[in-house]
Amino acid sequence: MMTILIHEDGLIQEIGKTSDLSIPSHYQTIDVAGKYVMPGLINAHVHLFADGKPFTLSASEGLLNFAFHHILDTRLGRSVLKKRVKKNALTALHSGVTTMRSVGEFFYTDVQLRDEINTNRFVGPNLLVSGYFLSVTGGHGAPYLALIGDSPWEARKNVRLNVKNGVDIIKICVTGGVTDANMVGEAGRLQMTEEEVAAICEEAHKIGMRVAAHVESTEGVRIALEGGVDTIEHGAEMDEEIISLYKNNPRALNGYTALIPTMQAAYPAAKLDTSLTKVNETVKENSRLVYDSMLKGLRQAVEHHIKIGVGTDAAMSYVTHYDIWRELDHFMRQTKLNAGQVIERVTKSNAEILGIDHLTGSIDVGKQADLIVMEQNPLNNIKALSDVAMVMVKGNLIQTPSVTRIREVDELLDSVW
Ligand SMILES: [Zn+2]
Repeated sequence: MMTILIHEDGLIQEIGKTSDLSIPSHYQTIDVAGKYVMPGLINAHVHLFADGKPFTLSASEGLLNFAFHHILDTRLGRSVLKKRVKKNALTALHSGVTTMRSVGEFFYTDVQLRDEINTNRFVGPNLLVSGYFLSVTGGHGAPYLALIGDSPWEARKNVRLNVKNGVDIIKICVTGGVTDANMVGEAGRLQMTEEEVAAICEEAHKIGMRVAAHVESTEGVRIALEGGVDTIEHGAEMDEEIISLYKNNPRALNGYTALIPTMQAAYPAAKLDTSLTKVNETVKENSRLVYDSMLKGLRQAVEHHIKIGVGTDAAMSYVTHYDIWRELDHFMRQTKLNAGQVIERVTKSNAEILGIDHLTGSIDVGKQADLIVMEQNPLNNIKALSDVAMVMVKGNLIQTPSVTRIREVDELLDSVW
């Protein structure tokens, strides 16, 4: 029988055979005999402003502008948003996600939430936060979710603004996205120049900060890699030059660039009937283009041993904060990766990619006690991760986690495959 000894400072103190350890008498014992313990999950790509209930953005620019200024950006709107962001982070935590990387949020609400958690106002997940996207005029997420810059120096200024506001990472939009494309093919259209990407990376890297790039086309991936980004979010089909740049990227902080695909975010709109998803034909076709290219990219990454992380794009339609196991299941169905390999990617690899492997991502002495306990063995069935019996974050135990599920989303996704 094994025991993990956890110090009151929240770090793992000792691991060993129960018979070999001397357990201080004031320590509380949690008996998990017959259950399965593993490192807490890391979701490397989330947005906290929404919960995954399907939404369609077919409103006109004028209507969006009105809604932003008269609903969201008001005292009441910001307070509603703040509550929602907290609720979504706690939903993720109770489902076993002990670390989240927020890659695009309104008004630095994610920075505030991280600070409240880190000053022990309540028990929450470890958070790495980006605040606003960095984008270009008319670019992805602009103007409401992004700071806009149209030159390398404006882009540097926006990095500095986000740093001043307390972010942990910089999120940039190199190409368009499905959510704000009006025409077929627009999702992957180039927006940032290599000079702008390089300026942003230099500015962030000089203070040890990583850059995550939203990219949904092959040419976008090339520009992002050449500019020196640390992670490609979503991704696309690769050529030889791109494959070698991922693996050896001298401008990236780790010396390589990792791929963080988000398969579940693109899948429903791309593959399910529009009568179910209620998206229009443009969204469906853009989703299909992005999904197919992203899947090719993921398969190439597996084949060529490119570092792969796991993120879900939680908040997008049909992507909840509690079902990261579906992304792993998707990887297993569409690539040769097995359960052990996808579990390694959602824990240890994610921690390495995000530069937090000295803190979390594995069960080792000196690291934070970020753990999950399951009744079933996820190595036998990855779906075991959908039913976590206990969660611990930095030594704080959640003995009976409770997750409010969104039935319409679960039912639709359960009916697929
Ligand atoms: Zn995203």
